[in-house]
Amino acid sequence: MDMQRRNLIRGKFFSHSEDVRLPWLKSAALFYKNCTQCAECIRACPERIVKKADGGYPAIDFKFGECTFCGECAQACPQELFETHINRKSWAFIAKVEQACLTLHQVSCRSCQDSCAYGAIKFELVLGMIPRPEINDQLCTGCGACVAPCPSFAIEIVTNKNMKLSERSINVYQY
Ligand code: SF4
Ligand code: SF4
Ligand code: SF4
Repeated sequence: MDMQRRNLIRGKFFSHSEDVRLPWLKSAALFYKNCTQCAECIRACPERIVKKADGGYPAIDFKFGECTFCGECAQACPQELFETHINRKSWAFIAKVEQACLTLHQVSCRSCQDSCAYGAIKFELVLGMIPRPEINDQLCTGCGACVAPCPSFAIEIVTNKNMKLSERSINVYQY
């Protein structure tokens, strides 16, 4: 079975463990069909967060930094994989705090809040408990800046199933 089909069956584009997250891709099917793995997007990303991932396809690795939504990856791609008129907001991903969060184990921590430039992480005060991070899905852009600073690797960037791109409240990225 070829990689395109295998990835689609495994749900890599939409599942929790997806590793293809370039902004503004038209569709997963088109991506796996027409991406030649030329690595132009990898070379173009000024943040150096686009890496070769499973099967040689490019993917964003937030361990190396955040996406600024600059559009360089999409512009560099010689194939027609990306939206060409980007006048809408980022992408349908948001941060999700997993069980490994230190605060869920009664250890005080606010590293993720300090790294979020969008004010999307607030700490919920619960009587007798360590304050816990809450992600505001109206403010979170899915930029991934909070991923690397988390000392317990507790933050995943996941598909926001509850929000259409048109409903996002901030940042219209245009190029
Ligand atoms: S939009 Fe910019 S920062 Fe984000 S992955 Fe593409 S090139 Fe990198
Ligand atoms: S940085 Fe990680 S461990 Fe610390 S509060 Fe945020 S999610 Fe929890
Ligand atoms: S993904 Fe970006 S906007 Fe969302 S909570 Fe993390 S740092 Fe803030």
